[in-house]
Amino acid sequence: MDSVRVAIRVRPLVKSELDRGCSNCVLADPINHQIIVNNNTNLTFTFNYVFTPEHSQNQVYELAVEDLVKKLFSGYNVTILAYGQTGSGKTHSMGTNFVDNDTVEEKGITPRAIQHIFNEVQQKTDQAKFSIKASFIELYQEQVYDLLSPNKAILEIREDGHGICIPGLTEISVNDFSSTLQCLVQGSSGRATGATAMNAQSSRSHCIFTLTVNQIQEDGNNTTAKFHLVDLAGSERSKKTKATGERFKEGVNINKGLLSLGNVITSLCEKSAHVSYRDSKLTRLLQDSLGGNSVTLMIACISPADYNMDETVSTLRYANRAL
Ligand code: ADP
Ligand code: MG
Repeated sequence: MDSVRVAIRVRPLVKSELDRGCSNCVLADPINHQIIVNNNTNLTFTFNYVFTPEHSQNQVYELAVEDLVKKLFSGYNVTILAYGQTGSGKTHSMGTNFVDNDTVEEKGITPRAIQHIFNEVQQKTDQAKFSIKASFIELYQEQVYDLLSPNKAILEIREDGHGICIPGLTEISVNDFSSTLQCLVQGSSGRATGATAMNAQSSRSHCIFTLTVNQIQEDGNNTTAKFHLVDLAGSERSKKTKATGERFKEGVNINKGLLSLGNVITSLCEKSAHVSYRDSKLTRLLQDSLGGNSVTLMIACISPADYNMDETVSTLRYANRAL
């Protein structure tokens, strides 16, 4: 199994794009795993998975995610990252903004994965004893915020003998679907958002929802695996969002995380001896879940609109480095 896989998901044209008179400049070919921009052979990219606007949330889950959740139970750390410009479908795909009245069909990856995990646990109760903890972090301007603490405490990243740790982080023991979802809902409500010219709901921060799964087998064998679900900040360059002042500074810091994530993934794919996890908080946080005994899926989300073509090509190039 490849330790890093990349999926591209093209969302449908949204109302604002249709109102603007945008046309479609992206051809998605799931059979050949290709994306072609502007019918230009120089802008043809190949990935592990290609999802068209017609692919449902359930299909994305079954084709790209289900296997990874099974790996979690074999002791692998699993990381799923959603990358892309603001408005491209990251939050929709990850299901980070879950609300209780979401229809079953519209649920994104996170609630589906939670359901799947507890189904697996239930099936395995006579073979092993499980304990699962949830935590939820936001990274904003290179600061770590604990979204499950009462006042969004700022925390530091440390390394102990076992790897990366965050002293003081709120970790909530969860034992079923609804108590876990409760953590997701509670944390998302505190996530920083800022208005930009592109999207009033634009998220300028990375957020990482983590489930730590510990299992003790009958023979005493004890394994812990981490499952990170990461809704990355918008990848757009700050110019297009007309960012100035504070906003611009945010853009710079966000790019630092995305830049070093790209570098880390490239190094892992090239099996290079040195991987620079220390360049940003994002990569430090994910250090023990990228490379080594872990599997990573990057879902790069794109808009099909010609208006967004520059950002789309830049997302495809970024995602292409990961292969
Ligand atoms: P991001 O988190 O990348 O800023 P969102 O997930 O909020 O983007 O998506 C922007 C808009 O597009 C939302 O209204 C969302 O419901 C819609 N959307 C995104 N992906 C899809 C999809 N695959 N199918 C239908 N609507 C989508
Ligand atoms: Mg979002």
